[in-house]
Amino acid sequence: MPKVSITKCDNYEQSVVDSAIHEVLAPLGGISAFVKPGQKVLIKPNILASQSPDQAVTTHPAIITAVVKEVVKAGGIALVGDSPGNTYANVLRTLEQTGVKKAAEDGGGKIVLFQSEGVTMVKGIPIAGAALEADVIINLPKLKTHNLTLYTGAIKNMFGCVPGFYKSQFHVKAPHPDDFAKLLVNVFEIVRPTLNIMDAVVGMEGKGPGAAGTPRPLAIIMASTDAVALDAVGSYLIGFKPEQIGTTVTAYKRGLGEMSLEKIKIIGVPLEKIRQANWKKPVNIYQLSKWFARPLALLIKPLLGQLQIDPFIDQGKCTQCLVCYKNCPAKTINYEKEKKIVEIDLKNCIHCFCCHELCEYSAVELKRSWLVKLMGIE
Ligand code: SF4
Ligand code: SF4
Repeated sequence: MPKVSITKCDNYEQSVVDSAIHEVLAPLGGISAFVKPGQKVLIKPNILASQSPDQAVTTHPAIITAVVKEVVKAGGIALVGDSPGNTYANVLRTLEQTGVKKAAEDGGGKIVLFQSEGVTMVKGIPIAGAALEADVIINLPKLKTHNLTLYTGAIKNMFGCVPGFYKSQFHVKAPHPDDFAKLLVNVFEIVRPTLNIMDAVVGMEGKGPGAAGTPRPLAIIMASTDAVALDAVGSYLIGFKPEQIGTTVTAYKRGLGEMSLEKIKIIGVPLEKIRQANWKKPVNIYQLSKWFARPLALLIKPLLGQLQIDPFIDQGKCTQCLVCYKNCPAKTINYEKEKKIVEIDLKNCIHCFCCHELCEYSAVELKRSWLVKLMGIE
C-alpha cells in the first residue's frame, strides 16, 4: 500500500522547515532510504517564473535548502534544476530572483542549468540530460490550482524536465486538457521521481498557477514515493476528487501509482483535520462543457458555443515586457511597437492560458461570456 506522510509546518523559518522535512521523511525510511553516498541527486522544484517566494508561485527556498541538506548529509551530490515556464527567460537570473540558487548553495548543493547541460530525445520528447543522468530524482512540487489542468502537483512538476521552448509545443499539439494530461504523463513516465516532497506550507487558490493566483496556507509538508498517490491526496485536500484531475487519472490507468484514497496509507496528520473548505478553483471552457451530459449537450448545442473564457490584456497593467508574446504557443499575440500595444488575436487562440500563467503583472485577464457569468462562475 503506498504511503503519504504528512507533517505540520506553519511557516518557512529555516529551522522549522529543516525539522519538518526530517520528520516527514522518517516514516518513509529517512533520506538514507533513497540516497546513497556518491549518488548524483537531481532536486526538481517548481520554478514557474521570477516571482518572490511569498507569492507562492514557486517552491519555497527554505524547502529546497532543507532537502539539499538532507541529501548532502546522506553523502549525495545535490543538484537543483528546473526549466521555467517563460522559455525565453534567462534561467540563471530566474533561479537567482526566486532565491533558488542561494537556497541550493546554502544547503551545500549547486544549481544545474538544463539547457546548457544538453538535451536528449526520449520517445520523441526532448528531456534535460541532467534528469536522465541523475541516479535519484527528488521532486519538489508546490500545491496550486491551475487554470488549464485545474490542479498542479507532483506529476505535472516533472514537465519542467522538458527544457525551454519545447514545452510550448506541447500546448499546440494538445490544447485540450485531457490530451495535455496524457503528454504530461508521458514526460512523468520518462523521468519518474524516486521521492516526492510537496510544499503545501502555503499553497495557491484561484487563478493559479502564476502571479494571478492567491496564496493560501495549508501549513503542511507531504512526502511519498508515489507521485500519483501524493497528487490524489493533494487535490483532495483542496476540494477536488482525484478523478477530476487528468494527470492523476491518466497515470493511474497506466499503472504508475495509486489514486484511490482508501488504498493509500496516510501517516501523520489525518486528512479530515486539514481538508480545506471553499478553496477557490479555476474553471476553463473544457471543463464547463463536461458539466453537461451528452443528450442534454445535443439539445443545448447552440448554447455551448457561449461557454467562453477568453484571455485579454489589460492595457493599463501591461508593461510590454513581451513575455506572453514570445511564449504564446499559437503565436496569436501581436505587438504593435509604435503604439506600444500587446494584444491577443482570439482567432487562433488555443486557450492554453500560458499568457495568463506567465504574466508577472497580472495583466492577462480572463473574460467570461454572459453564459459563464450566468452560471455564477468567477
Ligand atoms: S500582458 Fe503581461 S506578459 Fe504580456 S506583455 Fe503585458 S505585461 Fe508582459
Ligand atoms: S493567447 Fe494565451 S491562451 Fe491563447 S494560445 Fe496564446 S498563450 Fe495560449
